[in-house]
Amino acid sequence: MNVIFRLKPLVFHLFFIALVVFAIEYSEHIWTQYFTAVKSTALILTGIAIILAVQFNHSRLGWLSLVLALYAINQDYQFLALSLAQQQVFLLLFLACIAFVADRGVYSIHTLYRVALVAALYGASFFYPALLSYLGTVPPLPMIVLAALVFTLLIVRTALSPNHSHMAFVSLLVVLVLQEMHFVQLERYSLLLVSSVYFVVVILIESYLLAYRDELTKIPTRRALKQLSLALGNKYTLAMLDIDHFKKFNDTYGHDIGDQVLKLVATQLTKVRAGGKCFRYGGEEFTVVFPGKDKEIAIAELERLRQAIQDYKMVIRQPVRKSKDARGKAKTKQKTVSITISIGVCQKGAKQTFDQVMKVADEALYRAKKKGRNKVSE
Ligand code: GH3
Ligand code: MG
Ligand code: MG
Repeated sequence: MNVIFRLKPLVFHLFFIALVVFAIEYSEHIWTQYFTAVKSTALILTGIAIILAVQFNHSRLGWLSLVLALYAINQDYQFLALSLAQQQVFLLLFLACIAFVADRGVYSIHTLYRVALVAALYGASFFYPALLSYLGTVPPLPMIVLAALVFTLLIVRTALSPNHSHMAFVSLLVVLVLQEMHFVQLERYSLLLVSSVYFVVVILIESYLLAYRDELTKIPTRRALKQLSLALGNKYTLAMLDIDHFKKFNDTYGHDIGDQVLKLVATQLTKVRAGGKCFRYGGEEFTVVFPGKDKEIAIAELERLRQAIQDYKMVIRQPVRKSKDARGKAKTKQKTVSITISIGVCQKGAKQTFDQVMKVADEALYRAKKKGRNKVSE
């Protein structure tokens, strides 16, 4: 279930890339008269994609753009000395390999490794037909098998680490397979045009998420809250939330379990109703904003959230302390713990700035703590 949820954005990737590819395919008769323009635009956009990839630490998309550009240019100049089938093998192997390496800075030794990888894959695809005939198999079938294998690898990789780069690799593979099966017949430069625009969009989305979505809890960050504050109207209610005795919790169960608690609280907060929007303000503090809502509505909803978090029984595995001479496997015992949060609420008053509203909410939070914690205070 979790895996399906992780792969959900992939459906959007596939949908959009399919839409774009089919749109280009059906308007190709219009494009063909401007083919020189398409060619140069594709190459310029590839250059832009590569620069952005280098700048924003997405070197794998940069390498892929470069390979696709060589693939397109090779159509005119045939400098690669690979047959069509060999070129396809190269692309498949390349996709499979780069999905499993990390995005590394280009001004490092890793660039040399990547060049070595490209050279090795070139050799592998060069000898691939020879290998097939040696093994005595029929050529067309293994290509599909290889594509299916690479597809499975890419799906596994995306499920393990569901970022947009990995989803772009899957989408590109699907386009290449559709091309191979003649469902679409894109010019290589059209493919290059589509892929470079696609990669630029992926890099922009990932850079946006990096700044505006918290790495640990996956909810919006303080920076996103700042952004929202500029768009808020004159009526809203804001709440500051803080986990109770979290330091003690960290000290007792360790930082990793502490991180799990933060994720859990964030997940509960994303279930906020009444139009509330939640943010990780920093550390173990969260903010929920209810645009256009009176504090009565907000407080009722926050009370529900506070109760839901209190009622949630979290199962943790705790290592049993080994006695001095005990050896062998570390034993763990299961324990359920519950956590509570304190909340301070403030509805924006006339002439109050966003920072002032936050300050008042923070003071209310302090009162909630003083009243014994696990409380909503205004
Ligand atoms: P109070 O009930 O008064 O809020 O007490 P508290 O212990 O929750 O408050 P305090 O501000 O003293 O401690 C906050 C702790 O949160 C300290 C810090 O170690 C922990 N913390 C902050 N960010 C993270 C994080 O990202 N992961 C983990 N595991 N702990 C964090
Ligand atoms: Mg705190
Ligand atoms: Mg706290």
